[in-house]
Amino acid sequence: MNMNLITNTEDTIAAIATPPGQGGIGVIRISGAQALAIADRIFASRDGAKPSSFKGFTVHYGDIIDGKKNEVMDEALLTVMRAPKSYTKEDIVEISCHGGIVSLRAILILVMELGARLAEPGEFTKRAFLNGRIDLSQAEAVLDIIQAKTDAFLQVSAHQLKGELSTELERIREQLMDIYLEIEAVVNFPEDDIDDGKKAHDAREMGRVIGAAKERVGQLLRTGEHGRILKEGIKIVICGKANAGKSSLLNVLLRTPRAIVSEIAGTTRDTIEESAQIKGIPFQLVDTAGILEPRNLIEEEAVRRSHLCIEGADLVLFVFDASKDLTRDDERLMHVAEGQNVLAVLNKCDLPMRMDEAAIKKKYGMARTVNISALKRTGIEQLEEAIVKHVWHDKKIDTHGILISNLRHLSALLSCQAALEKAGGILSDGLSLEFVSEEVKIAISFLDNITGRNIDADLLDNIFSRFCIGK
Ligand code: GDP
Repeated sequence: MNMNLITNTEDTIAAIATPPGQGGIGVIRISGAQALAIADRIFASRDGAKPSSFKGFTVHYGDIIDGKKNEVMDEALLTVMRAPKSYTKEDIVEISCHGGIVSLRAILILVMELGARLAEPGEFTKRAFLNGRIDLSQAEAVLDIIQAKTDAFLQVSAHQLKGELSTELERIREQLMDIYLEIEAVVNFPEDDIDDGKKAHDAREMGRVIGAAKERVGQLLRTGEHGRILKEGIKIVICGKANAGKSSLLNVLLRTPRAIVSEIAGTTRDTIEESAQIKGIPFQLVDTAGILEPRNLIEEEAVRRSHLCIEGADLVLFVFDASKDLTRDDERLMHVAEGQNVLAVLNKCDLPMRMDEAAIKKKYGMARTVNISALKRTGIEQLEEAIVKHVWHDKKIDTHGILISNLRHLSALLSCQAALEKAGGILSDGLSLEFVSEEVKIAISFLDNITGRNIDADLLDNIFSRFCIGK
């Protein structure tokens, strides 16, 4: 590991830990050997005691004082957590004061004048990792929790933070390590009197353990698709001719109590993109323009984009106006959506049905046709169920187990799997055990990559730079 990273942890760091802007309360966090000494100089406790005498996990009421001017800056609550029982395993002081940005900054500057350095993004969590409180996959879970867009992904990240992924990887690692050490012993201290029968038995046993480890890594890899969807969401495109009820449906889907609505920057005039969650799965809903006969260049561009959207969708909600006959416009759009993962949504079912429902069901299948009224909000629950079903393809959503959602983890697991595959191959070809141990060592190093036992300093900096300051 890079020395720079290690010496850096000797500084005492400080940052505003609450989001920028005004708030009821703002928190300044200080971590490091000087944290309590700094607190002694700026905090006047009501009972006159000094922070350096406070016990860990205690909160004290008092004033923040600017010693130079002998002025009270704010009243505050001071929380002390003593090393090693703290987030960073160092002494931590948290000052909770009134949440105005000017007063928070002034206090932070005071803290820095007394010897603390401004923390880098994620530096508190990085210290928790470097000081051995959490491993890298847990540190990444902290980031995931902060950035989680849905309840389901929050749950997955919370499990990862508890160390469930780390424990699982550690279990695989231990088994592989046993094999590695066994082979090293055989290679370095060969015993001539071992008969061929025992050798063959040992090799079979190694092959079994390597095979089992490969299978478990494979299982973890197979959760990647679920993990990706839970983390990043899935792209649902709503299409249909003008007036079919696309915008109405979009609004209904966004207004369900389970939905968290947020505007996506860069919304264009021809497509509306919103993110929402339906039954815990994050969705990016795109409402395409219903233009079919472009009258000018701008509309031509809009049509081109909505076609691209349909092609790039994970799921297309094709909205029909069921109170009317199928039109040429419907047919043209059906042609564009051909070959996609389509759900046919027969809208306006509150009105007398004119559309040939049987024909639509024949084309898209019973399970892929849902009758709704966006206006009266009927059939929406069934539609949501159908959406979830066709996104997961009937796979059970299991957020309690381990789900791999991080690309870095996926890629390390793939490499680990490849190395185990090679190790197994070498073993069954009866080649020298040294080659097997080489591959097993590579497989272990990829597992260590995920937990951070073995990781490049630049990569580490890159991971933590994605955190916010104060975390
Ligand atoms: P879009 O052009 O496809 O986005 O369609 P809109 O959502 O703007 O809806 C077009 C018109 O159909 C509006 O006047 C809506 O109020 C109406 N509409 C939408 N959904 C329904 C429905 O389920 N039943 C009825 N009766 N009218 C609807």
